[in-house]
Amino acid sequence: MSQSAVNPPRESVVDRFLRYVRVETQSKEEETTVPSTPTQWTLAKMLVEELRELGAENVRISEHCMVYATIPANVPMNDKLPPIGFLAHVDTSPAVTGLEVNPIIHRNYQGGDIVLPNDPSQVITVAQNPVLRSLIGDDIITTDGTTLLGSDDKAGVATIMTMVDLLGQNPSIEHGPISIGFTADEEVGIGIEQFDVAGFGATFAYTIDGGTLGEISDETWSARLATVTFGGKSTHPGTAKGVMVNSIYALADYVLQLPRDMLPETTEGRVGFVHPYIGTADVETSSIKILLRDFEMSGLTAKEEMLRRLATETERKHPGVSVRVDVKDNYKNMKEVLKDHPQLVENAFEAARRAGLEPFTEPIRGGTDGSKLTFRGLPCPNVFTGGHNFHSKLEFNSRRGLEKTTETLVHLVQIFVEQSRADQQFVTQHSSSRVAAD
Ligand SMILES: [Zn+2]
Repeated sequence: MSQSAVNPPRESVVDRFLRYVRVETQSKEEETTVPSTPTQWTLAKMLVEELRELGAENVRISEHCMVYATIPANVPMNDKLPPIGFLAHVDTSPAVTGLEVNPIIHRNYQGGDIVLPNDPSQVITVAQNPVLRSLIGDDIITTDGTTLLGSDDKAGVATIMTMVDLLGQNPSIEHGPISIGFTADEEVGIGIEQFDVAGFGATFAYTIDGGTLGEISDETWSARLATVTFGGKSTHPGTAKGVMVNSIYALADYVLQLPRDMLPETTEGRVGFVHPYIGTADVETSSIKILLRDFEMSGLTAKEEMLRRLATETERKHPGVSVRVDVKDNYKNMKEVLKDHPQLVENAFEAARRAGLEPFTEPIRGGTDGSKLTFRGLPCPNVFTGGHNFHSKLEFNSRRGLEKTTETLVHLVQIFVEQSRADQQFVTQHSSSRVAAD
C-alpha cells in the first residue's frame, strides 16, 4: 500500500480504539459458562453492527459471544488463495478493574516519566519502560491510573476493524478471502474451546494480541496445571492429641520445598517455572494449584516429576498425611506445528518491514488463543499491537503503535496475493518450459 494513494478509513484507528476501551468487558476466573461475564456481549454486539456497516459478510455472533465475519476476495484468483484469518479477543484481564476506563492521550510525548493523573502513585517510568525512548513525538495513550487500559486486546480488535474499514474504502488493495473472529474469555482461558474453527473458515490465522511493534511470535511455552491435595484428619482440637493430622503443615512444607530459582519471580527469557498461585488450607483437606511452564516438553515433564517426587517426600515427612498430585495439560508450544508453516511468520515479517518496522521474534511467556487453535488445525502466529504493560494500571499504547499495526495487517493480506501470483507464474513457466522440452 503506498500511503499517499490510500483513502483514509471512515474512523481512525485511534478513535476506534478509544471508543472500544471505554466499553467494560472484564472476564471472570472460575466461571464455567462462556462468556464468563455478560458485559462482553456489549462490545461483541457493537462489533457485529459495525462489521455489517463496513460491508463484511456472514456476520454472526454465537451463543458463546464469538463474532464471525468474512470479507470476500477482490482478486480473480479467488480459488487459489487460502482464506486468511484475523483474531482478537474482546475481554480484558480479571486482574485489574476495567470499569470506567478513562483513556488519556499524552500528545507529542517529549520524554520523561508519565504520572497518571488520577493516582499519582502510578508512574510509567523510563527506567522500567525503555521503549518510551522510541516514542518521542508520538501520542501515548494511557489510563488515568485507576484502571487497566484494555489495549490487551482492544488494540487487536481496533486494528482488525480498521483494516476491514480500509479495505472497504480502497477496493484497489488486493486481498484474498478474509475471515474475522472476535473471541470472548481469552484471559480466563475458557473462551477458545467454544470457537468454531470449521465455521471460521480460514486455512491459517493471526492473533493480533502481542506487544512491542515488530514483535511476531510463533512460539509459546507449554503449560500444565497441577493440583496437589493434602489429606489429614480433623477432630475437635480439645481432644486432638495423638489423633489430629493437620494437612496445613504438609501443604506449607511442600510449598517451601519448591526451588527458589524456578519461580516466576526469579526466571525470564526461555527459562520455565513452577508457580503455586491459589489454594485452600483446612485441617482435613488442603490443596494448592501450581502452574507448570516450559518451552521444552522435556522440561515440563521434569517439573511434573519434581512435584510428584516432593509429594512422596512430604508424605514420608508427615505421617498420616496423604498427598495426591493431579496434572492436566493446558496448552502446548505452537512452534511444534508452526515450524512446518514458515511462510506465515516470513510474510508477517515482510508486512512489518513494509510498514517501516524492524520485525523480530520473541517466544511468549504465556499462552495465546493461537496456541490452542494451532493444535486444532488452524496454524496461528501472534502479531504485535504496540501495547505495553498488559494487565496493569500502567498499560499503554500509542497512536503510532495502533497505526503501524493496522498498516502491517493491510500489507499482510496483499503479500499473500503477490505470493500466490508468483507461485502461479512459477507453475505456468515451469509447465510451459516442460512443454518446450518435450
Ligand atoms: Zn490478550
